[in-house]
Amino acid sequence: MDFRFSPELESFRQEVKDFCQKELPPDWQMGDFFAEEALETENEWAFYRQFKLKLGAKGWLSIAWPKEYGGQGSRLKYVILDEEIVYHGAPGLDTGLTYAIISPTLVRYCTDEQKERHLPPMGRGETIWCEFFSEPDAGSDLARLTTRAIDKGDHFVVDGQKAWTTMGYIADWAIGLFRTDPEAPTHRGLTMFILDMNSPGIIRNPVKNLLGRTVWSETFFDGVKVPKENVIGKINNGWKITMDTLNGERSGIWWLANSRRTLDRMLGYVKERDSLAKDPIIRHKLASLAIGIETSRLFNYYVEWMREKGDNPVHESSISKEFAADLSVRVAETCLHILGPYGQLSKGSERSPLGGTISEAFFGYLPWTMAGGSPEIQKNIVATRGLGLPR
Ligand SMILES: Cc1cc2nc3c(=O)[nH]c(=O)nc-3n(C[C@H](O)[C@H](O)[C@H](O)COP(=O)(O)OP(=O)(O)OC[C@H]3O[C@@H](n4cnc5c(N)ncnc54)[C@H](O)[C@@H]3O)c2cc1C
Repeated sequence: MDFRFSPELESFRQEVKDFCQKELPPDWQMGDFFAEEALETENEWAFYRQFKLKLGAKGWLSIAWPKEYGGQGSRLKYVILDEEIVYHGAPGLDTGLTYAIISPTLVRYCTDEQKERHLPPMGRGETIWCEFFSEPDAGSDLARLTTRAIDKGDHFVVDGQKAWTTMGYIADWAIGLFRTDPEAPTHRGLTMFILDMNSPGIIRNPVKNLLGRTVWSETFFDGVKVPKENVIGKINNGWKITMDTLNGERSGIWWLANSRRTLDRMLGYVKERDSLAKDPIIRHKLASLAIGIETSRLFNYYVEWMREKGDNPVHESSISKEFAADLSVRVAETCLHILGPYGQLSKGSERSPLGGTISEAFFGYLPWTMAGGSPEIQKNIVATRGLGLPR
C-alpha cells in the first residue's frame, strides 16, 4: 500500500499551484466557500470567465473525461486540480458543479449527439451549468418533487419551482429532474433533462446567503418548452441517474480544501505571535484540527482512488463528505475562538485579524454542510449502505 501520489501527479499539483499564484491578482477577493460567491461586478465576472477559459485551454477542465471526449481519463488529476483551485480561492470550476457533478453524468448517460453538443464547450470553459433537484417541499426526500414535465409529442412542457440552485442565477445550461408520470410510484415517474437556461418561461431570482452573497437562485418554470432530444437516459428513469449524480457530489474535497486554507492562515497568524504559539491550549486546538484534516485528506483520496478504478463508492462518499463538512465548521469555529472578539469583526474593518476571513469562513462554511444532502442524510446512508441497518 502506498499513500503517496506518483511523481507525475505531484508535479501536476505543483503546476496547478504555480498557475494559480501567477494568474490570480494579489488583491483577489475569494469567496467564503467557493470563489464564485465573492463575484459581484461585471469586471469580476469577466475575470472569472477569462480564468476559466485559461483552465479550459490547458485541457484541465476535461482532464477526468475519457480520451475520446478530449480528456486524459484521470480522476486523480481532476481531484488535485479541484483541491488546489478551491484552496487558492481561484475561480473557474463553477463550485465544482459543472466538472465534478454534471459532466460525469453527461459522459455516462448522454447520447453521442448530446455529448458532441455539450462537452466541447464545457471542456473549453465556455459554459456554466447548474443542477435542478431540490424544491421548496422536496430536499432530503427528493422523490416528493412535484415540478411537472408534460409530454407534448416532440417536446415537454415544464411548470413548477426549484430551490437552492447553486449558480442558477448565471448558468447557461442545467440538468434537472422533473415529474413525468404522476401516476407511477414516486421514484419511477421522474425524468432527467438538459435545459437551456435562456428558454422562455424560466424565471430566476437570485438568493443570498448568511453573508449577503448571492449563491443560489430560486427558479420558476412557466410553460417552459424542452425538446425531447434533451431527455437524459430514458423517460421515467431519472431516479437512478440522479442517485449517481448526487453520489459524485459527495466528495469531501471542497470542504477539505477550505479547511486547509483556513488552518494555514491561522497558523501563519499564530506563528507570528509567541504568546499564542507557545500557549498549550491553542497548540492542542490547532493540532486537533490538523489531525482531522490529515484524516480527511487520506480518506478523500481513498474515495477518489476508488472512483479512478471505476468503483462506485456510496457510503464511502458519504463518510468523506460528512467528515470533511463537519470538520470545516469546526476549523472555522476553533479559529474564531482563538482570535477572540476581534475575529468577529467584518472584512472591511481595519482591526479585523486576517482581514475578517475567519468569521466569513464560519458563516460561509456552515450552509455548505447541507449541500448534496444534509449531515443526517449522509449518516442515514452510512447506516443503511455501510452498516447494513434497516431503512
Ligand atoms: C450551499 C447549498 C447549495 C445547494 N445547491 C443545490 C443545487 O445546486 N441544486 C439543488 O437542487 N439543491 C441544492 N441545495 C439544496 C440541498 O440539496 C438541500 O438543502 C438539502 O438536500 C436539504 O433539503 P431541504 O433544504 O429541503 O431540507 P429538509 O429536507 O427539509 O431537511 C430539514 C432538516 O431535517 C433533517 N432531515 C430531513 N429528513 C431527514 C431524515 N430522513 N432523517 C434525519 N433527518 C432528516 C435534515 O437533515 C435537515 O436538518 C443546496 C443547498 C445548500 C445549503
